[in-house]
Amino acid sequence: MGDLLRKRQIDSRTVAWGKETLLVTQRNPPSAETTELRKTGLVERIIVSSSKAQLASRDFENETSIVEVGNARFGCDRIVIIAGPCSVEGREQLLEVANFAKKHGASLLRGGVFKPRTSPYDFQGLGETGLKLLAEARNETGLPVVTEVLEPDKVDLVAKYSDMLQIGARNAQNFALLRTVGKSGMPVLLKRGMMMTIDEWLQAAEYILLEGNQNVVLCERGIRTFEKATRNTLDLAAVPVLRKATHLPIVVDPSHATGIRELIAPMAKAAVAAGTDGLMIETHPTPETALSDSQQQLGLGEFASLMEDLESVAKAVGRSTR
Ligand code: PEP
Ligand code: MN
Repeated sequence: MGDLLRKRQIDSRTVAWGKETLLVTQRNPPSAETTELRKTGLVERIIVSSSKAQLASRDFENETSIVEVGNARFGCDRIVIIAGPCSVEGREQLLEVANFAKKHGASLLRGGVFKPRTSPYDFQGLGETGLKLLAEARNETGLPVVTEVLEPDKVDLVAKYSDMLQIGARNAQNFALLRTVGKSGMPVLLKRGMMMTIDEWLQAAEYILLEGNQNVVLCERGIRTFEKATRNTLDLAAVPVLRKATHLPIVVDPSHATGIRELIAPMAKAAVAAGTDGLMIETHPTPETALSDSQQQLGLGEFASLMEDLESVAKAVGRSTR
């Protein structure tokens, strides 16, 4: 980098972004300086933003970004439904739920194979065996797959079998992991950490964007508060707050946010009304026997009826689920 750029390091940085090299700065460079910077040929666009998550901010990109995962497009009028079990438990379970979800309007399949469990004695997931089952379900249904990756050195493995990498709430500020998924170039579903402010969440997204990976989708999944009636507190105001602050698409996960089956449908509808671009709904053929999160997964019939009900809410806010 030229001297001019080096001198400005205190309040600015250069970022290679696609074909452009951007200078992102927190103050307006005087126009003489701007002309000089352009002459160096090192900078194609200068972005002025007071945000600490500049690449995620609307200063950087005014239009909502579209993130494509297979045929699913986050950030369009059509709301993307991600469905599937909390954990991949076996072939029959996964294929049954995948086929059903597809038939009833889901456009992405979820299923954890590396599970971040609070207790080390709880089911930890099927690992690579589970990844192979996810890939098989994708082949059978055509649904792209999103699954969580817990460690930087598993990113290549998970990327090999999936279409979108999920960063879970517990890892939302694991900066090494964020950088590694950023470098992978794969679409990333970044969940909100349980104790993260919206600002901190956007800065976590910035770690991924800064690696040149523009395919980031944010997922609100509830935060930890003093309230005990629900597993977490679903912060639905985050949806319009994010909409104003960032161009990144937004998903809401009412399953982990509430932890209670009866609350999934009302909160999914509320999320659609609030303007979400997608929903993540844990769904299982027999929730009562599920190896993880059995209290919050919808049965197949419940998922189908939620999908029916969502369309009218989506229509009311100028969106669609179909
Ligand atoms: C999950 O979606 O499988 C999960 C563990 O969610 P969270 O990271 O939001 O707790
Ligand atoms: Mn779960």
